[in-house]
Amino acid sequence: MFITCTDLRIVLELITHSSPGDLFVTRNVGNVVPPYGQMNGSVSTAIEYAVLTLDVQHIIVCGHSNCSAMRMVLYPDSLENMSTVRAWLRHADVAKSIVKDNFDFANESASMQALTEENVIAQLQHLRTHPSVALRMASGYLFIHGWIYNIETSDISAYDVDLATFRLLNDIDTIPCATPRVSF
Ligand SMILES: [Zn+2]
Repeated sequence: MFITCTDLRIVLELITHSSPGDLFVTRNVGNVVPPYGQMNGSVSTAIEYAVLTLDVQHIIVCGHSNCSAMRMVLYPDSLENMSTVRAWLRHADVAKSIVKDNFDFANESASMQALTEENVIAQLQHLRTHPSVALRMASGYLFIHGWIYNIETSDISAYDVDLATFRLLNDIDTIPCATPRVSF
C-alpha cells in the first residue's frame, strides 16, 4: 500500500516501476494519516480495507521534496482562506512543533526538509494507532516504511528506525524499515 501526496509530479508507476494492479494507492494533501478514531474518512477506510481484506504486507508513507502542503504548514498565513485544508494539515502539527524547536525557520530549505521528514515519521506513528495495523505488525506480518521522494533528483530516502535517520536507497543493499522490532 502506498500513501503519498497529491502532488502531480509524483508518478508512482515511474518511481516504483510498478504495473497496474501492483500498488494499492491512497493520496491526499501532505501524505497525511489521521490517527485512528479522529476522522473515519477515506484514508482510514483504505488502510483497514488494504490490511484486512487485501492482506497487504507493506505500507509506505511517502513524502516528497518541495511539497506545497509542507510549505503551508510552515507558513500558516497562506491557509487563511482555506479552512478545510487548514483543518486537514493539523495532522502535521506535531512535526511542525519538533522542527520549530530544533531548526532556524530563517533557513527555509533546511526547515522544509526537516518538516517533510518529521511529517513522514509523525504519519507513521498515526498509522500505528489503527488497530488493524497494530494487530498485523504485532504478529510480524505487516511492515511500515517512511520514504521521501526527491522530485529534483528522483532519489528516494527511507527511514531507518534503528538509526533514527533517513538513508538514500541508492547507496545500500537492504531497504531500511520503519517497523520497530516486536517487543514480545
Ligand atoms: Zn506534497
